[in-house]
Amino acid sequence: IVSVRNLQVAYGSLEVVKGVDLDVSQGEKVVIMGPSGSGKSTFLRSLIWLVRPKAGSIVIDEIEVSSRTLMEVRKRVGFVFQHYNLFPHLKVIDNIVLPLIKVHGLSRAEAVERALEALRLVGLEEKATAYPLQLSGGQQQRVAIARALAIRPKVLMLDEPTSALDPELVEEVLQVLENIAKRGTTMLIVTHEVDFALDVADRVVFFEGGKIIEQGPPDILYKPKTDRFRQFLKRLH
Ligand code: ATP
Ligand code: MG
Repeated sequence: IVSVRNLQVAYGSLEVVKGVDLDVSQGEKVVIMGPSGSGKSTFLRSLIWLVRPKAGSIVIDEIEVSSRTLMEVRKRVGFVFQHYNLFPHLKVIDNIVLPLIKVHGLSRAEAVERALEALRLVGLEEKATAYPLQLSGGQQQRVAIARALAIRPKVLMLDEPTSALDPELVEEVLQVLENIAKRGTTMLIVTHEVDFALDVADRVVFFEGGKIIEQGPPDILYKPKTDRFRQFLKRLH
């Protein structure tokens, strides 16, 4: 459902993604790991041209990403960032409802129904009329996940969804993500949560220096093939 060929991304003269190929099949859960600065966020963002690639091709849900198709593609992709996910001046429900109306063209009634359904999935239906700052960090991130889910995405992309959270809040968000994974959603997740990767991932991809150095089933977390991945994993513990 995602097909990436020879993707290259640069910020000016700084080459950050240096020729990446990746295919993700329908329903697959791919966890991306790698050192800080290795280009993980840039890679994920570039798939929907939040950063525009300088070369390569991207196909998502059978649509080749281009300036002409970009809006269509983005409607099919849910994106959750590390932080700054919600509009603080909007109630939780409106954070979810407004994009559904404005970007996806739903009626208010449909949008509210979908938003409540998504909030139920992340266990926060009762917070619908709260403001984001009245919620814990973990709850805010669950709202961000609900917003991404409410668009019924073909692919859900998450960039370190738990790394900005206090340790005691991480687990509730990972639990929600695990439940979503079980529903068959295709997911691309940048995370260093090894236990989560072991439980949820179909494939783990190790990024370094803007390239995929190693990838395979989650047991490569126990038996890395490359020294670089082994070194990286050692530093995680
Ligand atoms: P982290 O684990 O710290 O989130 P990352 O693997 O996600 O790191 P990126 O954020 O993709 O790495 O950054 C890759 C490189 O690109 C870094 O050298 C970073 O300084 C640079 N970079 C990232 N965003 C920009 C930007 N908007 N403008 C210029 N350079 C950037
Ligand atoms: Mg990053």
